Amino acid sequence: MLLTADWVIPVSGPPIRNGAILVKGHTIDEIGTIDDLAQKDPRAVRSDFPGCVITPGLVNAHTHLSLTVLGGLIPPQEFHDWIAHVPATVRALDQNDLAASASAGAIECLMTGATVVGDIAYGPEAPSAASDMGLAGTFFWEVLGIAGEDLERRLKEDDYPESPPKSCSGRARCGLSPHSPYTSGPSLLRAVRDLTRKHEVGFAVHIAESPAEVELIRDGTGPLAHLASRFATEFRTPGVTPVRYLHSLGALEGAVAVHCVHVPPADIPLLANQARGVVFCPRSNAYLNAGQAPVTRIMNAGARIGLGTDSSASNIDLDLLKELRVLIAGAPTISPERGLRIITIEGAEVLGLDDAFGSLEPGKQADISIWRMPSTDQPVRDLIEQGSGKSIEAVMSSGIWRIRSGQPAFPTGNIELAAKHAQIKAALALKGSQPSSSA
Ligand SMILES: [Zn+2]
Repeated sequence: MLLTADWVIPVSGPPIRNGAILVKGHTIDEIGTIDDLAQKDPRAVRSDFPGCVITPGLVNAHTHLSLTVLGGLIPPQEFHDWIAHVPATVRALDQNDLAASASAGAIECLMTGATVVGDIAYGPEAPSAASDMGLAGTFFWEVLGIAGEDLERRLKEDDYPESPPKSCSGRARCGLSPHSPYTSGPSLLRAVRDLTRKHEVGFAVHIAESPAEVELIRDGTGPLAHLASRFATEFRTPGVTPVRYLHSLGALEGAVAVHCVHVPPADIPLLANQARGVVFCPRSNAYLNAGQAPVTRIMNAGARIGLGTDSSASNIDLDLLKELRVLIAGAPTISPERGLRIITIEGAEVLGLDDAFGSLEPGKQADISIWRMPSTDQPVRDLIEQGSGKSIEAVMSSGIWRIRSGQPAFPTGNIELAAKHAQIKAALALKGSQPSSSA
């Protein structure tokens, strides 16, 4: 199949005017100009997209697709008040609800041009449902609230794949996440880190997200102390910063460090050198009044950067281009070109997926987003400044059309109905719960 457009932006090279992509099966065969590729394979079925710009499928490096049904249910508030609502609400959702929620989230990702996620999963539902929809990604199984010695038992209960390197190859890869230093104690943080090293899979952790977390790790006090006493088994006040605490446990090296809002200048070189990458979620941080990450400083220290929308429970949508504009507003030195890299190849590197995703190159997966951008001479700048889910014309993943003419190319009625039921259940659980006792 030959896809053509006014511009093809491979990310791995400069934009190509009157560009084309030759797709064979589920991978990209070649990139070039329309003239060159039409000559090379004159019999290829052709799909022309005049007035459009083609990019790789975007990489949303931090999501919780299973929480999509919580969208709009928990209003903006302080982080520590918000998080008290979440566990009881999640518990109200059964496996079918989680699958419906993850499917609805996957559709939203595709409708806004993302085909790859770094997702926090609560069991096998999100990876399965998201894969069915056509998303790829690293799915970090979340474990918290237990001692390190109970990790393997818990993973069995949660249907974590028994031999992750074998069963988590291809488009849906596995990882683990101990959530955070206030919901996982030191033995669990260490155990999760050890197991991910042993299996060579990804390790993601929410770190330095709120002032309350900083206070807890430094002084053992504050609004997260109650949560820590319930969930972070054997937690003893470390008396340092969150980044140094993780480092002292050997859990910073190779980590996908999510949020990193409250990182003092003295910790930034350590974070940049040790973590696999830093994923910012600026709109979630604003929603929860958590502060603004020192993005420019962390970037200047040489960290790999990814960008995530976080979940619908703390954001208004999963539109990654809108997220990027908020990131750039807070860190204006990010050029449009770097911005595009952050939501494509750099995000893929953070998630350990750049062998197959994040750029348009021969041999990589045919994950392709097509944006309506008529008469542009600056396709990267215009996409970054103006693009959004509203500009999506078509999305392909693994060589299959998922979105055509701005609409899903598969039926979504049952998914939306199931997600609606799950949302009603979650709303009822939220109504009946008192935050302080439900956490
Ligand atoms: Zn998160």
